[in-house]
Amino acid sequence: MVLIVAHFPKLTFEHLFAIIKGMSISIQSSADALTKITQMGDMTLYEPAGDQPQVERLNRHARSQELWSPHAPGQAQPYQSHSLEECISHVSTPKGQMPVLKTMVTTACERNCFYCPFRAGRSQTKRVTITPDQLAGAFDTLQRAGRVDGLFLSSGIIKGGVTTQDKLIDTVEIVRHKYQYRGYIHLKIMPGAEYDQLLRAMTLADRVSVNLEAPTPDRLQTLAPKKDLHRELIQILQWAEEIRRKNPDQRLARTVTQFVVGAAGDTDLELLLTSERLYQQLHLTRVYYSAFHPVIQTPLENLPSVDPLREFRLYQASFLLRDYGWSAEDLSFGADGNMPLEADPKKSWADQHLIHTPVDIQTAERSQLLRVPGIGPKGADAILKARRIGRILDLSALRKLGIRAPEQAAPYIILNGRRPDQQRSLF
Ligand code: SF4
Repeated sequence: MVLIVAHFPKLTFEHLFAIIKGMSISIQSSADALTKITQMGDMTLYEPAGDQPQVERLNRHARSQELWSPHAPGQAQPYQSHSLEECISHVSTPKGQMPVLKTMVTTACERNCFYCPFRAGRSQTKRVTITPDQLAGAFDTLQRAGRVDGLFLSSGIIKGGVTTQDKLIDTVEIVRHKYQYRGYIHLKIMPGAEYDQLLRAMTLADRVSVNLEAPTPDRLQTLAPKKDLHRELIQILQWAEEIRRKNPDQRLARTVTQFVVGAAGDTDLELLLTSERLYQQLHLTRVYYSAFHPVIQTPLENLPSVDPLREFRLYQASFLLRDYGWSAEDLSFGADGNMPLEADPKKSWADQHLIHTPVDIQTAERSQLLRVPGIGPKGADAILKARRIGRILDLSALRKLGIRAPEQAAPYIILNGRRPDQQRSLF
């Protein structure tokens, strides 16, 4: 107050009261918004936001064991957040590891997806709604205080996907333009959102996600009977691809999606065939897989949790499709359409195909190198470059090229004309 008077010596008491009232309204509004965000807690407990979903999964699994599971102690307790920390996830983003605020515009929803804690009619969900102004202001407060750097924004659906998407976009407009925030924003696109909304979202955010939830229309019916896979969801991903094609020079958000794994009888084969199409035809940056975990007071509350190892194997296979030039047909599936849990999919393939016909590191094409366990895209490129200069003689030479565990590759390769010594090198 002394500062105000010193800067504005001609202020009347009326002016002063008005300023103090305005300040206290603003402080109160910010406090209210932070309280609401805290009440929402980690609404995205099952939704990864960044580039290392497995790490996020470990964190959220520990929390979910404690808070969500019907098999956990205190199962009658609805989830209730107790601190703002629960709403902040340390997420791996293209700009590095960031403390990202994961929150929602509203936890109310008019839809009834069977797996979702925010589904209509679930009395154990505390319904909290926050305005775009409040939410953007609270994010700005946290960001300036150094508590967060990054925003993951979603919402339940109220008055349809278009109206809800407007609120999400309004929030991000305020964050970007009023508060001049230039950092990482991951924005959800609501089912049924319009083309122009998607375009606007893609210019504002770094990443947009459209959750398909299930790989086929039938599976989606079992999970979310009010969602239409093609009309409301896949069409938006097709628009995103069209927008990128029409605006090649514009900086636009990348697109990701997520599947709920194992609650609708979905098989790995179905999930990976759909993932392959999403990568090849619609150029998605990432497909997330979220192992189903039952939520009390939902129609699926008595289904068992899905083994997190299944989620891990799906990620391994998905990277082979996205980064290694594999097709879903290259992978091994059992009669039930699932991959064996006990085996790394790349190693399984190599055990069947390379153990008796190893890959010659000195002459193999890039696509062949990428079939070898332990050799990824960077390693394959380093090998191709090194071969132009000379011969690669042993495993330690591979290690020097950045291949961290060349002994994994050893059973499947020829080095300097012979199978390498598979003893682990000491240096
Ligand atoms: S639309 Fe989204 S928030 Fe609403 S019930 Fe379905 S998954 Fe949950």
